[in-house]
Amino acid sequence: MSVVVLGSANLDLVYDVDRIPAPGETVLSRSFESFPGGKGLNQAIAAARSGAEVHFLVALGKDAAGDRLAAEARDAGIDLRDRRVDAPTGTAVIYVDRDGENSIVVNSGANATLVDLTEAEVAAIAAANLLVLQMETPPTTVRAAARVAKANGTTVILNAAPSGSVPAALLGEVDILIVNEHEAADLAGQTADAPDQSLSALTTHGCAVIVTLGAAGSLVGAPGQPTAKIPAITVTPIDTTGAGDAFVGAFAAALDNSGRATNPDLRTLIGATEFATTAAGIAVQRKGAVPSIPTLEEVRLHSA
Ligand code: ATP
Repeated sequence: MSVVVLGSANLDLVYDVDRIPAPGETVLSRSFESFPGGKGLNQAIAAARSGAEVHFLVALGKDAAGDRLAAEARDAGIDLRDRRVDAPTGTAVIYVDRDGENSIVVNSGANATLVDLTEAEVAAIAAANLLVLQMETPPTTVRAAARVAKANGTTVILNAAPSGSVPAALLGEVDILIVNEHEAADLAGQTADAPDQSLSALTTHGCAVIVTLGAAGSLVGAPGQPTAKIPAITVTPIDTTGAGDAFVGAFAAALDNSGRATNPDLRTLIGATEFATTAAGIAVQRKGAVPSIPTLEEVRLHSA
């Protein structure tokens, strides 16, 4: 059993500022820190901390940021299958003001060079139990990976974030779609205040759908099945950054571990969602995206 994650890795450069600079303005930063990020890396680390054997397919630059992200992945126990390319490692420059408002510029860099799949990457996807995809790498590659998985009996999980670049045909090639309420509404052409309707509309593509609702938990549905509501755990949130990634990675690990990752029934999906809900609920009580992701032992202790 194993999980392949194909996706992005970024170095997040976070500047604390009194206020976000207006056009033409220069402001001094109060402090600076850099963190590993990118949905692919976050989800790969979350799956690995939840006990899965994880192979991570990613493009990194031949630079210090690439070395740092590679080390983070390996430290988490991930089998890193990185391409080192002639483009800078992906970065996100993030300004956070005193009110916690932020302003972000992402340079996809190396992530944008993942425009095809190598033979070794195809083989890794074909041999896996589960493939986890997001939309921070080129959509054509995401689709090609989903097709390889489909042809080889590998279950496809798509976290369709950001939702703006999802090719129409991709949803028909996915087994399990995980989205937040805004992404669900965007993909379904509905309003965000009716996530159950968005979920029903999305299951017409033939996939199971999980819609996450922040502190309100999540909805789980599958074609022709009643929708289940899973409450979040009750916590005092400190930092919800990366809650969605903690959820997706933990979900993939729990599904892999269930032994029923191929054509999972609603009960199996609900079980994996409950595990992911606990993992994400622990993560929001701690600062940072990657540092906040809990281990399998922490999730089990909480559930005991
Ligand atoms: P982000 O973009 O911040 O990573 P997201 O919008 O993709 O997050 P959310 O729906 O906000 O995802 O959160 C994912 C899951 O995390 C929720 O379904 C829930 O289980 C858990 N979660 C998020 N916020 C809270 C909270 N305040 N309290 C408890 N659990 C939470």
